[in-house]
Amino acid sequence: MIDLGILKGSSFVVLGLARSGMATGRALKAAGIDYICWDDNAASRDAAAAAGLNVANPAGVDWSRITTLVISPGIPSTFPKPHPVAAAARAAGKKIICDVELLAKAQDEAMYVAITGTNGKSTTTALIGHILTQAGVRCEVGGNIGRGALDLAPLGAEGVYVLELSSYQLELLETFHAHVAVWLNITPDHIDRHGDLAGYVAAKENIFARQQIRDCAVIGVDDEPSRAVYAKLIKRGIAAVPVKLESPIAGGISFRAGMLVDADGYNVDFADVPTLPGDHNAQNAACAWAACRWLGVPREQIVAGLTSYPGLPHRQERVAAVGNVVYVNDSKATNADATARALSSYHDIYWILGGQAKEGGVAPLAPWFERIRHAFLIGEATELFAGQLEGKIAYSRCGDLKSALDAAHERAQREAKDIAVVLLSPACASWDQWKSYEHRGDAFRAMARALPGAQVLGRAA
Ligand code: ADP
Repeated sequence: MIDLGILKGSSFVVLGLARSGMATGRALKAAGIDYICWDDNAASRDAAAAAGLNVANPAGVDWSRITTLVISPGIPSTFPKPHPVAAAARAAGKKIICDVELLAKAQDEAMYVAITGTNGKSTTTALIGHILTQAGVRCEVGGNIGRGALDLAPLGAEGVYVLELSSYQLELLETFHAHVAVWLNITPDHIDRHGDLAGYVAAKENIFARQQIRDCAVIGVDDEPSRAVYAKLIKRGIAAVPVKLESPIAGGISFRAGMLVDADGYNVDFADVPTLPGDHNAQNAACAWAACRWLGVPREQIVAGLTSYPGLPHRQERVAAVGNVVYVNDSKATNADATARALSSYHDIYWILGGQAKEGGVAPLAPWFERIRHAFLIGEATELFAGQLEGKIAYSRCGDLKSALDAAHERAQREAKDIAVVLLSPACASWDQWKSYEHRGDAFRAMARALPGAQVLGRAA
C-alpha cells in the first residue's frame, strides 16, 4: 500500500467504492488523513464500513473544509451529466482527481510508464511489466488492470510504475507526469462519456500532458486520429517514437513479414510467439519494445521477455492441446471487432460463438469466413447468427458452451490434419448464460483441460 502521509492536513471525499475507491479509502485511513467515502450502492457502502472505512453521505458536506474529491473513473464527472457530488465539488472550486494522481504525489521520485489506447492496453501493460521484471527492473503493474494505484507497493527512486490508464482516468489527472507515455491506437469508443470523438481523443491526450523534452512518447500511427496526435507531439518537441505496421517509418518501429524492425534497423523474429498472435499483438509488442528500449533494457532481454510472455487470461489464451488441436479462450472478445482479431490470427478454425449479440452481429466477420471449418452456436444469439452464417459457413446449434465444446472437439479431432484451433471467441456479451466474460472463459478453460488426453497450456489459472 502507498503511504499518503504527505497529504496530511488535507481533507478528502472519496466517491465510488469499487477496487480503486476502496484502496484509496484504506490508504487515507492508514495515513490518518481526514476523509469520508461514499457509494450510491448500499452493498458497496456496507463492504466499506465492514472494512473499517469512514462511510458518510457527502450530500450535505461543507465543501469549504474539503480539499479534493477523489472520484472513481467509472462515475461521470462531466459527460453525459456530472454526478451531483462532482457537480457540488466543482461549484465549490474543488479539485476532482482519481487515485493515480495521489500515487504520483506520494511516489514522486519513481519513474512512470503509462499506457493508453482504445485496444491492447492490458496486453501492452502486462507485457511491459513482464519484460521489466524479467530484466531485473523493480516495477509494479496496475491502474486500470489488476491492483488499484494505491494498492501497489512503494518503489521510491529506483522503481518503475507501469500503469494502464483509461480515458476516464486520464481526464482526472492534474500533475501526473509520464516519463514514458504509450499510445496504441484510437477507434471511436465511450463517446457517451466524452461527447464526441474529439472529446475522447482529448481525454486520452492527457497521457502526454506535462511530458518534457527528455521524456518519451511511443505512439501507434496506423489510424488517422493517432497520426494527428503524433504530429502535435512533434511540434511540441517531444521525443516521439512512431509505431507502424507493414511499412517502414523514419525513427520508428515497424512490423514486416513477421519481423519487428526497430529504429536502428535491428530485426526481431517475432512471428512465433504463441502468446502474442496476430498483427494487433505486433502493435502491442512494438510499443512495448520502444518503451523498454527507452528505459535502457538491452535488446536481448526484451526479446527474452517477449518470447516468455505468458499472456493474459481470456485474450486468445491458449489453454490446452489435444493432438494437433489447440483450444483457445478468447472470452474477452465481446464484439465482432475483437473477434476479428482472433479470426485473423489462425487458419482451420472450429469457432464457438454466441451469447448476447451486439449490433450488426457477426456480419462484419465475413472476410474471415473461409478460415472457419465449422461454427458452433450458443446462447441467445443463436437464431440471429444462424441467419447471418446461412449458406456461408457450416454451423450447428449447440445451446450451451459444454455442448459446443464437445461438438467442436469431436469434429476437430476427426477432421484436422494439420494444426487447428477450437476457438471460443463469442463476439457477444456473456450475460445470457454467465456472470461475466471471465466466468465464461474460466468455464471454457476448465472444460477444455478436462478433455480426454488434454495437455495443459499456459498458466494454471
Ligand atoms: P484493452 O485493455 O485496451 O481492452 P486488451 O489488451 O485487454 O485491451 O485486449 C482486448 C482485445 O482487444 C483483445 O482480445 C484483442 O481482440 C483486441 N486487441 C488487443 N490489442 C489490440 C491492438 N493493438 N489493436 C486492436 N485490437 C487489439
